[in-house]
Amino acid sequence: MIKVGIPRGLFYFYYYPLWKTFFENLGAEVVTSSETNNKIVSQGIDIAVDETCFPVKVYYGHVNQLCNENIDYIFIPRIVSVELRSYICPKFMGIPDMIRASFNNLPYVIDITIDLSRNNKELKKEIIKVGQLFTSNKKAINNAYQNAIIEQKRFNQISKEGYTLDEAIKLWEGLKIKLNTKNDLKIGVFGHGYSIYDQAISMNIINKLREMECQAYIPEMLDKKIIEKEASTLPKRVFWTIGRKMVGGALHMDKRTDIDGIIYVSCFGCGPDSIVGEVIERKVKNKPFMLITVDEHTGEAGLVTRLEAFCDMLRRRKSNNESNISAHG
Ligand code: SF4
Repeated sequence: MIKVGIPRGLFYFYYYPLWKTFFENLGAEVVTSSETNNKIVSQGIDIAVDETCFPVKVYYGHVNQLCNENIDYIFIPRIVSVELRSYICPKFMGIPDMIRASFNNLPYVIDITIDLSRNNKELKKEIIKVGQLFTSNKKAINNAYQNAIIEQKRFNQISKEGYTLDEAIKLWEGLKIKLNTKNDLKIGVFGHGYSIYDQAISMNIINKLREMECQAYIPEMLDKKIIEKEASTLPKRVFWTIGRKMVGGALHMDKRTDIDGIIYVSCFGCGPDSIVGEVIERKVKNKPFMLITVDEHTGEAGLVTRLEAFCDMLRRRKSNNESNISAHG
C-alpha cells in the first residue's frame, strides 16, 4: 500500500482529518510523525535556518522523523489562503521550498497549493492533480474529497466543545477524553493553534491551567460571526486568518463578564505575533492580561510560576470583588 507521511506540525492541527480522509479514501496509508518531543525539537533546530520561527523549526523535526520512515510521499502543502480575502503567514507559502533546500533524503513531496483568497477553482484542479498520483478515476478523487470535507466538518464540530485541537483529533479518531470540569476560573487562551495545542511547544499550557482548576476558553469555542464582528472594530482589517481570529476572540472575551483573564502565547521569531500580540495587549482593557513568549529555551518551572501567580491574582481579584478596578493600574 502507498504510504503518505503527514508531519504533525503547523496546519496538521487544523486540517488533519481532511487530509487523512482524502488520502485514505484514495487507498493510501497515512503515517504521521510522533507527538513533538525533545528529540524532534532539537533535530528541527539543528536543520532549520536560525531566522525562522519556533513552530517552523519544530516542523522540520517532524519532517526529519518521517524521512526515516518507509514512506512513498510526504505531504507538505503550500498554504497561501484558507478563506476569501485573507492570508496565512508567508512562511507557509515557502515551506515546501525551504524543506526541499534543507533535506537530501526527502521522499516525493506533495506540495499542493491551497489558495482560497479569490475562489476555489484552482484548488479543485490541485486536488485532481494530487489524486492522480493514486488513481486515474476523477470521480473517485472527487468522492474522496467530498468525504474528506464531511469528516473535517465533523472534526470542526468536536473542536467547538472546549477540546484543544489535538484532543479533538483524538476524539475524531474514536479515542475517549474526559475533561476536568472542576474549575473556578475561566481564562481565554490565545495563540496559533500549532503552538498552543502542541504540548511541547506550549509546555502543555492548557493542561497546566486545567490542573490549576481553570477552564481554558479557546478561540475554537467562539462563533466565527462573533470573531469577525469584534475584529471589524479595528481601524484596519487584519488580513491574516489566524491573527484576525485571535484579535476578534480576545476583544470579545474582554467584554464578557464570565471571563476572568486573558493569556496570549506568542512564538519567538513570529512576525505576525509581533503585531497581533501587541494589538491585543493594547486593546484588552477590562481583563488582566498576560503575554507569554515561548521558544526552545523556555523553562517549564518559569512558566508554572507565572501561571500560578496569574491565577492567584485572578482569584484574589474575584474574591475581593475587585473587577471594578482597572486591570492596567
Ligand atoms: S504566523 Fe508566526 S509562528 Fe506561524 S508560521 Fe508564521 S512566523 Fe511562524
